[in-house]
Amino acid sequence: MNGGVKIGRIFGISIKLHYTWFLIFALLAWSLAIGYFPVQIEGKTSTIYWLMGGFASLLLFASVLLHELSHSVIALKNKIKVSSITLFFFGGVAEVSEDAFSPNKELKIAIAGPIMSMFLALCFFLLTKITVSAPNAVFSYLAWVNFLLGAFNLVPGFPLDGGRVLRAILWKKWGDLNKATYFAAEGGKAFGILLIVMGVLGIFWGKFNLWYVLIGFFIYSIAKNTYKFTIIRSALKDSKVRDVMAKSFKTLDANSLVKNFDFKKYLKYDQWAYPVALKKKIIGIALQQHIEKAKTTDLKTKISAVTIPLTKIKSVEADDSCIKAYELMTKQNLELLPVMKNKKVIGVVKAAMINELFNMAASKIEIENKARKKR
Ligand SMILES: [Zn+2]
Repeated sequence: MNGGVKIGRIFGISIKLHYTWFLIFALLAWSLAIGYFPVQIEGKTSTIYWLMGGFASLLLFASVLLHELSHSVIALKNKIKVSSITLFFFGGVAEVSEDAFSPNKELKIAIAGPIMSMFLALCFFLLTKITVSAPNAVFSYLAWVNFLLGAFNLVPGFPLDGGRVLRAILWKKWGDLNKATYFAAEGGKAFGILLIVMGVLGIFWGKFNLWYVLIGFFIYSIAKNTYKFTIIRSALKDSKVRDVMAKSFKTLDANSLVKNFDFKKYLKYDQWAYPVALKKKIIGIALQQHIEKAKTTDLKTKISAVTIPLTKIKSVEADDSCIKAYELMTKQNLELLPVMKNKKVIGVVKAAMINELFNMAASKIEIENKARKKR
């Protein structure tokens, strides 16, 4: 989801366009120019219709950007970091750091977007009152789309803004973020399924609606993952790296050959990645999958050739939280992170250990959820 072209910065937040954006922009301008506007207002030249299509698409893009910016500005006002906004066409993702969240902050940040969309709908509606002909058609289209964007986002299911609002209210009421997320995510999953069913049932009145099905799947899967991620966060919140780090670990010699690496010998260490040592000094990490891959090409390859140097790895320190370790592991696609102190490796965190912490918390929460359903 992070792939995109950077187009600028506003309030220190970098704004990116997702790659699919360009395609959808062209598709939307085309369908408006060919299909929508000629029906709304007759007797214009095709140049005029294309201008209307392009202009309406640009203004819709600006509307979506304003919606996302309104979330971000409220987040910044509440001293919450926003690193970037990636715009898909009909929506965007603001990368907001959730560390400093509280129910009240989440509520304010979430509601800002739909309020902005409704406000824009009102502005465009007022513009239709003072315009005629082509501009009038463009503005009334935008009034509608902004109203729909606002309304759609108010549906009380994660990941929609309404789902965040619901979560904030439940979180405040119960004081339990996991439980609140569970219900908001169930709402999102139900809404996702509803959209899929509506799309498929469309067959009966002559039109299978692929958009409904796609958006439904998208919402369903995000709702599911968000809940999982919330559990991970709460499970790892209170654990420090020093609680899970291994001080003894197996290293590989930088000068040894990949062909001599036999993973069966290392199974007992429960490691899928290895610190690599050169003259007793650790210089980086080699992943088992890279070693095995190197074996298939050149048998003379040394371990050093498949080593990711320490300087290229974002590592942790003993006092860091396990959330940080988990995030760095996922972001860098590493199964092992070095724990540093004064530029020296003093231990490692293995993905297996973090997973163990997570599984324990997840099964505990799973039991709570089953009890919740029975009640
Ligand atoms: Zn929003």
